[in-house]
Amino acid sequence: MARPVRTRIAPSPTGDPHVGTAYVALFNLAFARQHGGQFILRIEDTDQVRSDVASEAMIYDALRWLGLEWDEGPDVGGPHGPYRQSERAEIYREHAERLVASGDAYPCFCTKERLDALRAEQREKKLALGYDGHCRSIPPQEAERRRKAGEAHVIRLAMPREGESVVRDLLRGVIRFPNEQIDDQVLLKSDGFPTYHLANVVDDHLMEVSHVIRAEEWISSLPKHVRLYEAFGWDEPVFCHLPLLRNADRSKISKRKNPVSLNYYRRAGFLPEAMLNYLALMGWTMPDEREEFGLDEFVDELKLEGVTLGGPVFDLAKLTWLNGRYMRRLEPAELLARLRSEILSDGYLLEVLPLVRERIDTLDAFMEYSQFFFTGDLTYDDAARTKLVAKGRTAPQTAKALRTLLEDHLDGLMEWSAENLEEVVRGFCEASGWTPKELFMPIRVAVTGSPATPPLFETMAVLGKELCRRRLRNAVTELRSMK
Ligand code: GLU
Repeated sequence: MARPVRTRIAPSPTGDPHVGTAYVALFNLAFARQHGGQFILRIEDTDQVRSDVASEAMIYDALRWLGLEWDEGPDVGGPHGPYRQSERAEIYREHAERLVASGDAYPCFCTKERLDALRAEQREKKLALGYDGHCRSIPPQEAERRRKAGEAHVIRLAMPREGESVVRDLLRGVIRFPNEQIDDQVLLKSDGFPTYHLANVVDDHLMEVSHVIRAEEWISSLPKHVRLYEAFGWDEPVFCHLPLLRNADRSKISKRKNPVSLNYYRRAGFLPEAMLNYLALMGWTMPDEREEFGLDEFVDELKLEGVTLGGPVFDLAKLTWLNGRYMRRLEPAELLARLRSEILSDGYLLEVLPLVRERIDTLDAFMEYSQFFFTGDLTYDDAARTKLVAKGRTAPQTAKALRTLLEDHLDGLMEWSAENLEEVVRGFCEASGWTPKELFMPIRVAVTGSPATPPLFETMAVLGKELCRRRLRNAVTELRSMK
């Protein structure tokens, strides 16, 4: 009997919720629904340094905004929990020990210095980079004795050295990898935490995932995963690697060339149903080639093995066009409801009002003083353009400072609060030799279009990360165009 269908997404909470996560989630959810199965959300937060609770919360929010609800997950529970990998450390340790006992994995005591020297030598001799198997020949009793004595070590997978690994992907058929090119992957780090490979395979098995539908970039991990299934004696799931979303120049979608945060699309006023429709088009063509369809139709029609491998280009202009079609289909009352749920919500208005009430004496002045809270991109009039350049600095210098501030300091800021913003911007000033007086004005003009505004950091906090980033980016472009 075929296994019940269970699919999953397994995002790592290390930044803004990514458009690629929604794309992969959509296909997983549609396939599970189509077969009356379950769709699981698992949080892969074993990278303790980069994982972040704010980021995890944003993943939930963004997916729910799109209507991609999961049947099991950290916040909704389920029979195979916990669904957050940081709470499963003991499970991974036990499984790693099982592989050491069966000889499919081994402790490696190599120091960082040895590994660095090895890498340098491989580079110099233009050899393939990777672990040389140094600790693989240590007799098991001796390795055990050294572990008991407390010597620092990792656990590595003993990959076969000869022959080839043959794996199967639903869309690509059989793929062969020469084993000599596959590293003895670390499974358990010296701090006892698992790496992606071990945790991912163990969880997919224990959570009874039947179909692993994920992005193409994980194909190179497949031989290691398949080896792990074999070593544990488990049945493999079906693997299906979806084509990556791409920028117009065919490179992997990236924030330099396209907005990739789902928060951006929400803040910019895209409708979730248009977003889902567009993401479905990235990997799927309807039999009659119609371009507009809803989630239910997608669930009915999707044939996973018929996903197109073309390298879909994520085209903002086309998404915007499609969104316009959806907007015009809504009755005015429905459109109003959408406005009231996002940009004209009471919550948002109540954040804006305290900032502008100092500056208005009648209600009808509200729009004039607050319009930049409700628009998307800004146009800078001549007075604003002048103030966009920091006093005493050139346009290119200001552009460079704003860009560095944005990319190196603000992009990674997860809690976009006035306090955090002030700390980051002042810290940047100190480190880069700018005075707050010089830099605050260009930032103010960039994010509001005006030199006179409510307090800068409160204003930025209310505008939100996405709008501020987009406007700062546009300001950098504007500054660069100045002679
Ligand atoms: N944690 C991986 C990610 O962030 C999961 C990849 C997979 O689905 O196996 O995408």
